[in-house]
Amino acid sequence: MKNWIYTTLVAACPVIPALAQDAALLKKAHKIHEKAFTLDTHADTPMLLSRGGFDVTKDNSARGSSATGVMMGSSKVDYPRMCKGGLDGIFWAVYLGQGPRTPEGHALAQKRAISIFNAIDSTLKATTSEAELATTPEDAYRIGKTGKRVIFIGVENGYTMGHDISMLKNFYDRGARYMTLCHSSNNDICDSSTDPKGAEYQGLSSLGEGVVAEMNRLGMMVDVSHVSDSTFYDVIRLSKVPIIASHSGARAICNHPRNITDDMLRALAKNGGVIQLNLLSDYVKTIPPSQEREAALQAMLTKWGLKDRRAMMGLPEEDQKRARAEFMALNQKYPVQLATVKDAVDHIDHMVKIAGIDHVGMGADFDGGGALADCFDVSQYENVTIELVRRGYSKRDIEKIWGGNFFRVMKEVDKGAVKVVAAN
Ligand SMILES: [Zn+2]
Repeated sequence: MKNWIYTTLVAACPVIPALAQDAALLKKAHKIHEKAFTLDTHADTPMLLSRGGFDVTKDNSARGSSATGVMMGSSKVDYPRMCKGGLDGIFWAVYLGQGPRTPEGHALAQKRAISIFNAIDSTLKATTSEAELATTPEDAYRIGKTGKRVIFIGVENGYTMGHDISMLKNFYDRGARYMTLCHSSNNDICDSSTDPKGAEYQGLSSLGEGVVAEMNRLGMMVDVSHVSDSTFYDVIRLSKVPIIASHSGARAICNHPRNITDDMLRALAKNGGVIQLNLLSDYVKTIPPSQEREAALQAMLTKWGLKDRRAMMGLPEEDQKRARAEFMALNQKYPVQLATVKDAVDHIDHMVKIAGIDHVGMGADFDGGGALADCFDVSQYENVTIELVRRGYSKRDIEKIWGGNFFRVMKEVDKGAVKVVAAN
């Protein structure tokens, strides 16, 4: 299962030259990668679809190449690169940043969420020969066999529903199968892990408790990525079915509040849920920045009156957009050193050690900041499988990580919905 097996194998076969071993390993990894149903559970690509001028049927890799991509008009996800990277399916997120928590703010958020759903619909209608919407694992396998890309929908930030719980049914009916309860700031549903103001409810609000119950009833997965630790435990306590973290890592490997602790990993395993690994470099590994970059960043933070980069999340939405654009420009001028696939697989090793092989998957957050030096976009996904094979993970383990575990949870949540409805 781990390094030592590979090391032992190598030591046991000293007559095979290293290059030949590499070739055999690459071949084995390629075969596994090709055969597995590969699923990434979080990409913010719909932001680009709804903005227009982005063609998902073309390889967009030549456009812009900031460390985090999307803010510069670049993208890390399109159909040709999904094919190149052997990625069968992806969850597109209907994402909204946190805006004003007022009746007007909530009404606008609902309107915007619907327009993002519309953009996904029209993209899929215009590209029926290349991709298709899936709402169940069975759909995914059926569509996958035709050679088309499989598109699932998730919603990121419960702010999108305002205070109207009936919006969840609307989202579900439009194909959404999970909702991330919040984003970088607290909202009316729950506390976020990164709100500079700290906790408001010490977990879920009473509206949030209703949201979890309704999502259980509908058969929509509750996503705890972005939520505070106390919200996580509230959700674990309340949810009648397994939960997901669609794009998160292990805090023991990279100490960031967006990642989850070992105790949370154990609770998630007990709940039967799954954590999908985020490939956003800052959440994968803390790499000290260069002095020039640090000075430029400090000047930018002072200009915006922020004490650190995370405080950017607390700015009003329009200011946040401008500040993030400046941050992206800074990224281009002083590129950050990105974490690597090896660093990312260290998270997988740890999560497997603590939670078990049945509770880990992939959710890179491409187009939302996800990017590694050697898995910069979906086209390089095979590198993850190569590293997993190198560390001794079996074909069965890798299939679980690449979608098997997530689909198990999806099925259980769907089954739970029937039960809850029947019980009513
Ligand atoms: Zn996110």
